[in-house]
Amino acid sequence: MVARHTPFTIRLKDRSIAESEVDGVQVGIDPGSKHTGFAVFTHQAGERRGRYAIQLDHRGGRIRKKMGQRSAYRRRRRAANLRHRAPRFSNRTRPPGWLSPSLRHRVETTTAWVDRLTRWAPVTAVHVERVAFDTHSLSAGRPLEGVEYQQGTLAGYEVREYLLAKFDRTCAYCGATDTPLNLDHVHPRSRGGSDRVSNLVLACVACNQAKNDRPVEEFVTDPKTLARVLARAKAPLRDAAAVQSTRWALWRSLNERLPTRVGSGGRTKWNRTRNRLPKSHTLDALAVGEAETITQTTDRVLVAACAGRGSYSRTRPDKHGFPRLRLPRTKGFFGFATGDLVRAVVPQGKKAGVHTGRVAVRASGSFNITTAHGTVQGIGYKNMRLLQRADGYGYTWKGEGVSSRP
Ligand SMILES: [Zn+2]
Repeated sequence: MVARHTPFTIRLKDRSIAESEVDGVQVGIDPGSKHTGFAVFTHQAGERRGRYAIQLDHRGGRIRKKMGQRSAYRRRRRAANLRHRAPRFSNRTRPPGWLSPSLRHRVETTTAWVDRLTRWAPVTAVHVERVAFDTHSLSAGRPLEGVEYQQGTLAGYEVREYLLAKFDRTCAYCGATDTPLNLDHVHPRSRGGSDRVSNLVLACVACNQAKNDRPVEEFVTDPKTLARVLARAKAPLRDAAAVQSTRWALWRSLNERLPTRVGSGGRTKWNRTRNRLPKSHTLDALAVGEAETITQTTDRVLVAACAGRGSYSRTRPDKHGFPRLRLPRTKGFFGFATGDLVRAVVPQGKKAGVHTGRVAVRASGSFNITTAHGTVQGIGYKNMRLLQRADGYGYTWKGEGVSSRP
């Protein structure tokens, strides 16, 4: 029997778990700030076959905006021309491991999806990136072997990710961003410079070529800039783990549920490149952790956009804060509620056709549907069929390999 429309789930009623032979599936997760990729795959003897792919679109940006708005309203109320109130005693502390609401939302929706997948499929293990790079494999004191940081090796990818984080994806010499960056030896190897990460910086192609194998003192003539470049190269990237607090929180939360294996961003990239996969959140999720070969990918990705569950506010303010719209007290009209997944078949007129997506209801019975191609307005409820009740996500599909990485 069909248990769910999206993601499509069936329940086998003719057998029990005890009577079935189940190999189980595993889930790979690529946590990102705007999108998180999920890949459900079977894993046997180092070989992975992708079975299902989900891209979760977070709403951290909107949460952040709402929190800012709330604090602005409160600040105004405190500063308004009202009776004087003494400032509150500063007794507010944050518990250890506190995450801002937008970050907590990322951790919670990601774990919620792992819970859901576990409910629908026999998930045996989870793979997740806990860090962008594995500092252990860099082991600051030990000089890297000449070939190790070269493209193509695992250590090479870890070094690259480390430097990208340390230099914030900018050229160490001219500060250029959004440009291809090369590894550059501050003290050239031809002049006895070492292969330690403390002698490596990122340089844009122009700076890298202009510097060539000249000593850094000759290339950077301004003493101030020179001092800055040298100091920056020498300083190790501190608190890499603290910067990644969200990933750690996610890992802790997943590890309570299922056996969770960790990987690094460098390893994911290495796996993806070796298997000649394009860059996408879901393919990164398929490549996370220890994977030898990836022999099958899905060609469609389910996009689940976090939509929230509406707001308690029953008015919408104008820009001065006065009520502009009054919203109805009831959530449902004509058997539909905002957020339901519906399919509308409009036989004629301007909006003729089939529209599938998330509905926004109005008391008039003329609803809007948000589809993969945008919002269609003013569709009568009589043309609609309910596919699935609102669950806080808007579902659409897209092709795999169509990257939307920020
Ligand atoms: Zn440069």
